[in-house]
Amino acid sequence: MRMVAKTDECWLWTGPQNLAGYGSFGVGRGSKRNAHRWLWEQINGRASPKLHLDHLCRNRLCVRPEHMELVTHSENIRRGARSTYQSDKTQCVHGHPYDEVNTAWYRGTRYCRTCKREATKQRRDRLRQAGTLSNR
Ligand SMILES: [Zn+2]
Ligand SMILES: [Zn+2]
Repeated sequence: MRMVAKTDECWLWTGPQNLAGYGSFGVGRGSKRNAHRWLWEQINGRASPKLHLDHLCRNRLCVRPEHMELVTHSENIRRGARSTYQSDKTQCVHGHPYDEVNTAWYRGTRYCRTCKREATKQRRDRLRQAGTLSNR
């Protein structure tokens, strides 16, 4: 087992999970705490129950406080709605939204910036693996 973690690594909760797939543990009288929220509060102090801890890394079992962002419930719902909204007119084939930030136009065709970025990254990774690009 490695003792020193890389700075951007997720801290995976290995204890029990709740039905939603988040780490959780009991705190007496049958009440359960979300592990990531509990740990975050140990470091940052009590968060308002109105606020939600959003996983920036999208890893539900991650409990690393640096990977959390405190958002309001409405913001969280808005984020969730963005990824589940079903219409090919408003999102790309991979489900990224065609909104102001994510949409780019090229010769009358719109494309998804997220996918474009992903494709660029993958191409770079392939080149790197092939030894064409040095590792910085
Ligand atoms: Zn994480
Ligand atoms: Zn996309």
